[in-house]
Amino acid sequence: METKFDCVVIGAGPAGLSAALNLRQRGKTVLTVSGGESLLAKAEQVDNYLGLPGLTGKAMMECFTDHAVRAGAEIRAGRVGNVMPMSGHFLVNLDGEILEAGTVILACGVSRAKPVPGEADLLGRGVSYCATCDGMLYRGRAVAVWGLCEEAPREANFLAEIGCSVTYIAAKRPPELRDDIVFLAGRIEAVTGSSVVESVRVNGADVSVQGLFILRAATPPDALVPGLALKDGTVVVDAEMATNIPGLFAAGDVRGKPLQVACAVGDGLIAALSAVDYLDRW
Ligand SMILES: Cc1cc2nc3c(=O)[nH]c(=O)nc-3n(C[C@H](O)[C@H](O)[C@H](O)COP(=O)(O)OP(=O)(O)OC[C@H]3O[C@@H](n4cnc5c(N)ncnc54)[C@H](O)[C@@H]3O)c2cc1C
Repeated sequence: METKFDCVVIGAGPAGLSAALNLRQRGKTVLTVSGGESLLAKAEQVDNYLGLPGLTGKAMMECFTDHAVRAGAEIRAGRVGNVMPMSGHFLVNLDGEILEAGTVILACGVSRAKPVPGEADLLGRGVSYCATCDGMLYRGRAVAVWGLCEEAPREANFLAEIGCSVTYIAAKRPPELRDDIVFLAGRIEAVTGSSVVESVRVNGADVSVQGLFILRAATPPDALVPGLALKDGTVVVDAEMATNIPGLFAAGDVRGKPLQVACAVGDGLIAALSAVDYLDRW
């Protein structure tokens, strides 16, 4: 499978698909990674997108996806765990597989989640957002998985398969969870440890673990890319959708209000043109 691209687009919502379409129309190689359903799929009816009134969000997403795929966009299901800016290119960790990209477009939507106490302090010291990326570090250890997205049971099963002792926390036990995974109904209230993760608090009780995998539908953007500039939780971009990191662009809800389809599609176009310009200058 190809691992080197002119651009990796993270997110296959309206912003990511618009970016992918426009990159393909300019002859660039692009991989679009989809971590799950776009937020738009939840919309009952969209009436403010020019030319396509009255569609359900799902129908609109099908229309966008179809168009991008017909233009040659490759969409791969998976989660990007992190993006490492190197000199002149990027390494993108997609479920543990390392991809190389000349440019990256962040189109990963909003992360509405409020971090739990201890999460930010212990990030990279036992707290992780990607089991398939970091799981090997926890082989043979006790870990907790907080399942907040549809791929979470698959990632928890992977951790159990590689020899972790897994406790899965969610509102209800997913049917596909392996039998040897302990299930706790509830939510994580805090993660604690003096320098590394030592325990998680669930329903007021401390559970002793060495790792916590928080698997949300959207990862906070600064957890994806070290050194990324944010303001009020959203990515800071200029008029070209360029972030503070050369070659890295952001589009759609991830870069802030208004959180609307038309803005996401427009941002995706601008980010794609800027990425093309950046690639052609290098
Ligand atoms: C109920 C509802 C109704 C709405 N109605 C309207 C409306 O009527 N009109 C309107 O204009 N807007 C509406 N919106 C808003 C609209 O859906 C968003 O503005 C739009 O979807 C933003 O597009 P996006 O591409 O930026 O992000 P999203 O559509 O959120 O897509 C982001 C994608 O990135 C993926 N992703 C995140 N992290 C990763 C990762 N680490 N690796 C791989 N993939 C990742 C996610 O799985 C997701 O597929 C509505 C939203 C909701 C929830």
